[in-house]
Amino acid sequence: MLDDLTRMAEPYRIKMVEPLKILSREERIEKIKEAGYNPFMLKSEDVYIDLLTDSGTSAMSDYQWAGMMLGDEAYAGSRNYIHLCEVVKDVFGYNYTVPTHQGRGAEKVLFPLLIKKGQYVLGNMHFDTTKAHIELAGGIAKNFVIKEAEDTENYHPFKGNFDIERMEAFIKEVGPENVAFILATVTCNSAGGQPVSMENIKEVKKVADKYGIRFFIDAARFAENAYFIKEREKGYENKTIKEIVREMFSYAEGFTMSAKKDALVNIGGMIAIKDDEELYKKVQQMVVPMEGFVTYGGLAGRDMEAMARGLEEVLDENYLYWRVNQVKYLGDKLREAGIPIQYPTGGHAVFIDGKKFLPHIPQTQYPSQVICVELYIEAGIRAVEVGTLLAGRDPITKEEILPAMDFVRLTIPRRVYTNSHMDVIAEAVKRVYARRESLKGLRLVYEPPVLRHFLARLEPVE
Ligand SMILES: *Cc1c(COP(=O)(O)O)cnc(C)c1O
Repeated sequence: MLDDLTRMAEPYRIKMVEPLKILSREERIEKIKEAGYNPFMLKSEDVYIDLLTDSGTSAMSDYQWAGMMLGDEAYAGSRNYIHLCEVVKDVFGYNYTVPTHQGRGAEKVLFPLLIKKGQYVLGNMHFDTTKAHIELAGGIAKNFVIKEAEDTENYHPFKGNFDIERMEAFIKEVGPENVAFILATVTCNSAGGQPVSMENIKEVKKVADKYGIRFFIDAARFAENAYFIKEREKGYENKTIKEIVREMFSYAEGFTMSAKKDALVNIGGMIAIKDDEELYKKVQQMVVPMEGFVTYGGLAGRDMEAMARGLEEVLDENYLYWRVNQVKYLGDKLREAGIPIQYPTGGHAVFIDGKKFLPHIPQTQYPSQVICVELYIEAGIRAVEVGTLLAGRDPITKEEILPAMDFVRLTIPRRVYTNSHMDVIAEAVKRVYARRESLKGLRLVYEPPVLRHFLARLEPVE
């Protein structure tokens, strides 16, 4: 483990660089206007520091790149698939692995096998594609994250936890036969990359057993979650990350994973099942027409090799220490400057509380989107709104949904930026904060009917 001196810098060195283009302020003002004040519509080339997502944006290691050259591109039975299965068995203790092209591919294949029309899927907080696939399979997505998650300023070590009482009351109310399964998202992306404690996972399992409900994990950031358990939960300080991961997954019967996060690859995903052979067979039947043959699921052999190696690498505690603390480093700088953020910072991003940052801009004028636009103008930083623009409209009343949490997400790609970049980001946020009172809201000029935030066009409100 790193000591106080060696922990001061990244536990890796750089052997390949990707130059960044830096536009002038005038050029950035022009570019964001052309993009309809929507950072999704910017060209990546025109961005200096890209904090849109941590998904598929990791820098792979030399070990992973070396693995890419060992791709076995056979249609069936690729050695890289076999390696992937071995790693999953070793890391998670699960017997069956089915690769998919990314996380949503796993959701698309698994969910229809578990959900009967009208059944509920209970989660701490479902990710947006997860919610979409629950609904496409005829289910209803329900969130039971603890109330503390909404209180951005107050410290809670595990803001991703389930409110067990509220969930159990709901199960009693609707009847367990109307619940398809419980899905724990680790870390809880939508609540700010907040971890779920081991104790809470155990309690979820207890409730699941009590009512005979199935229990799965949405495992995108499993290693970051395990690191938080080690750091914050009593009894886990001396366990290895691998031991913690093993225990977390011992309580569930399977997982879906977007490998674009903690598996440190640019594309990939999977379904893994502990020991339910019958479910595994159903998944196999489903994956062939949807993603590809059972031993590649939409991936090249080389992609599976990089994924297998990434899953091993991400368990390195020195790496996880640096990862989580780089995010914290940025969060601490913002907090010291009085900027309202979700506290404590989560594993993959700093979430700025847009409503508190710009109290004079009504939520219907997208305060968090305004901050994203200004960060681009200020320093070429591309952040993403996770608030009212993302929430969209009520499908029935067509009213704007006003979410309790309205965030700017500064998502930090893994192993990509240094703390000098974090300093630039912090300074840019401070400068925008200093001129916050002069900022105006935005209004939509083009609004797609679904997932509007990706393609929406906006203009400043005069
Ligand atoms: C990214 C993500 C997904 C979807 O995965 P993709 O690889 O983007 O398809 C599902 N759940 C969570 C928690 C995620 O973060």
